[in-house]
Amino acid sequence: ARHVEVATDAAVGQLAAGVAHEIGNPLAAILGYVDLLRTEDPRAPLSDDERRDVLGRVRSETQRIHRIIRDLLEYSRPGREEVAAVDPHAALDSAVKLLEPQARFRGVEMRTIPADAPWPQVEAPRGRLEQVFVNLLLNAADAMGGSGRITVSATTNDAGRVVLEVADEGPGVPRHLARKIFDPFFTTKEPGHGTGLGLSISRAIVETCGGTLELVPTPAGERGARFALTLSPRS
Ligand code: ADP
Repeated sequence: ARHVEVATDAAVGQLAAGVAHEIGNPLAAILGYVDLLRTEDPRAPLSDDERRDVLGRVRSETQRIHRIIRDLLEYSRPGREEVAAVDPHAALDSAVKLLEPQARFRGVEMRTIPADAPWPQVEAPRGRLEQVFVNLLLNAADAMGGSGRITVSATTNDAGRVVLEVADEGPGVPRHLARKIFDPFFTTKEPGHGTGLGLSISRAIVETCGGTLELVPTPAGERGARFALTLSPRS
C-alpha cells in the first residue's frame, strides 16, 4: 500500500481530542440516563421525583454539549474578517453593554484609564475585539464572585504597540496555572459553568492580526488577575 504524509496541525489535533473528550463524557452520561428510563422495571417503577431528577440530569448534560458547540463555533466563524482600524474603547463599551444585564455583573464596577481622553486606535479584526473583551470581562466578574472593580487601561509601550489591560480584584491566577489557562478546555470552574474555551479563542483571535494576549504576573503584595492585550496601532 502506498502511504502519503498527511500534515496535521498540532493545535487542531489537540482541539479535536479535546472536543471528543468533552462531548463524549456528557453523551455517555445521557445514554446512561436514557437507558435507565428505557429499561425501567414496571414492577419497581421510579418515583416521580426520581424520574424528574434523571430528566434534569439529561437536560444539564445536554446544555453542556450545547454550550461547548456554541463556543467552538466561535473558532470556526467565517475565517476571513477584515482587519481594520478599531476604536478599542468603543469595542469595550459594546462588550459592557452586552454583559451589564447579566446577574454576575450587577455588583461589578467598571473603570477605564484614561477616562477622559481618546484611546489609540488599533488594528484588529472588526467585530472580534468586542468578543475578546466579553471573554476577559466575564472571567474577571466570575473571579470576583460578581462584585468588585474591573479596570481597563490603554497605554502605548516602548515598541509603539497599544497595550489594553484588563485587571480585576479577584484571587488572581495561581502561578502554576499561568500557562495552562490558555489551553483549550482548561477550566477551574464548576461543571456546567465553564467550557475552558474563552481564553484560547481570545488568544487565537488576537493572534490572527499579529497581536498577543498574555497574563501579566501580579506584583508581589497585589491581588487580582491582569490580562494584557497587545495590538498594533492603526497604520
Ligand atoms: P472558562 O472561563 O470557561 O473556564 P477560560 O479559557 O476563559 O475558560 O478560562 C480558563 C481558566 O482561567 C478559568 O477557569 C480560570 O481558572 C482562569 N482564569 C481566567 N480568567 C481569570 C481571572 N480573571 N482570574 C482568575 N482566574 C482566571
